[in-house]
Amino acid sequence: MFDRASVVTPGGVNSPVRAFRAVGGTPRFMVSGTGPYLTDADGREYVDLVCSWGPMILGHSHPEVVAAVQEAVARGTSFGTPGEGEVALAEEIVARIEPVEQVRLVSSGTEATMSAIRLARGFTGRAKVVKFAGCYHGHVDALLAAAGSGLATFGLPDTPGVTGATAGDTVVLPYNDLDAVRAAFAAHPGEIACVITEASPGNMGVVPPADGFNAGLKELCAADGALYISDEVMTGFRTSKAGWYGVDGVRPDLMTFGKVMGGGFPAAAFGGRGDVMAHLAPAGPVYQAGTLSGNPVATAAGLAQLRLLDDAAYAKVDAVSAELRALVGDALTKEGVAHTVSAASNMFSVFFTDRPVRNYEDAKRQDVFRFTAFFHSMLAQGVYLPPSAFESWFVSTAHDERAVERVAAALPAAARAAA
Ligand code: PLP
Repeated sequence: MFDRASVVTPGGVNSPVRAFRAVGGTPRFMVSGTGPYLTDADGREYVDLVCSWGPMILGHSHPEVVAAVQEAVARGTSFGTPGEGEVALAEEIVARIEPVEQVRLVSSGTEATMSAIRLARGFTGRAKVVKFAGCYHGHVDALLAAAGSGLATFGLPDTPGVTGATAGDTVVLPYNDLDAVRAAFAAHPGEIACVITEASPGNMGVVPPADGFNAGLKELCAADGALYISDEVMTGFRTSKAGWYGVDGVRPDLMTFGKVMGGGFPAAAFGGRGDVMAHLAPAGPVYQAGTLSGNPVATAAGLAQLRLLDDAAYAKVDAVSAELRALVGDALTKEGVAHTVSAASNMFSVFFTDRPVRNYEDAKRQDVFRFTAFFHSMLAQGVYLPPSAFESWFVSTAHDERAVERVAAALPAAARAAA
C-alpha cells in the first residue's frame, strides 16, 4: 500500500508526520479502529496512543458517535445553508467556554488560526503577529516559522514557499520567556495585532506554560492594545471540559479549536469576544468563508462526542494518562534511561533527556535516537506511538485495564532498546 501511495502522493502520505521519516520504516495503513485499538492492513492490532493526533477522546467507533453520524448522513451530507446542527454545536462551545461569546465554524485547525489572525489584524488595524518557537498553529504561511513537530521531525527551520513579505510580519520568540515578549512590544509599540500561543504546547512535545506565562501574555497584550489568541486546537475539550481555559482561567480575546470538537470529522472553530467577532463578514468587514463550514455530518459527530464528555469522562482520561505516565517512567528508570515525562493535564510526552524542558531549544536537545529505538520496539509489540519524539501521546475513555496491561507488557523491552 505504501508503494502504491508513494506513486500517486508525495512521500506516500497526506500529512508529513504520518510518513515515519523521523523513525524510519514503513507507515502502517490502518483499516479499522475499535475503542483503544487500531487494526492495520496486515491484520495486526495495536493499542493506539495517537488517537488520530487527539480527536478520538472516546476511542474509535464509539457507538453513540457512529449512530449520530449515521442518522445525519441519512438526512443528507451537505446543504450549503445554515442548519440546526451547527447552531447546536456552537451553543455547546459557547456554554462550555465562558470567554467565547460567539464562534465561527470552519473545517480545520489551520483555517481556524488563519482566520483568527486575519480577524485580529482587521480588528486592530495592525500587521505584526507574535508566535513562539516550537508552537504549531497549522500550515498557515505566516505561522510556519519555527513551528515544532512536523518541521522539527524533518529538521526544517521553516519552509520554502513562504515569501519574505508573508513571514516579515511574524515575530518568533522563545517559549516561556515573558522578557522576550516585553522586548518585542517595546520594539514594535502599537504594531502588534496579536500574540498567538498554543494554550499549552503539544507540538514540541508537551511543554506546559510556566506559572504566570499565559497571564503575563494577556497582560502585555492588553497594555498595548493587541489581542491574545489562545490556540486550543489540541487542548480544547481535551485537557478539561473547558480545555486549557478550564485549567488556567486566563481569558483570551480569541480562541481556536479543532480535533476533539469534530468527533473525528473535519470540524474546527474560532471564537471569542463578541465585539471582535462582530468584525467578521457578513456582520462586519473581515471576510472569511467555507463551502463545507458547519457541515451537518461533522457537526453531528462533534456534538455527539462533546455531549458524552462529562466530568466522569475527563476523570477517566486523566487517570489512564497518569497510570501510563507512571508505567513509562518506571520502565525507563529501571533501565537507567535519562528521560522526562512531561504532562499537561492528560496530554503527555516523553523527552529522552533528564534536563528540564521549558522551550523548543530544550526539547531539541533530547536523545532522539533513543526515542526511535523505543518507538520501534513498542510498534513491534503492538503499541502505536506518535512516530516522532516531538509529539504528544493521547489516550481516551476507551483505554481500559486490558489496553493499559498491553502497554505495560511492552515497556520493559522498549526501555531496554532505548538504553
Ligand atoms: N493548532 C494546533 C495547536 C495544532 O496542534 C494543530 C494540528 O495539529 C493545528 C493548529 C492545525 O490543525 P489542522 O491539522 O486541523 O489544520
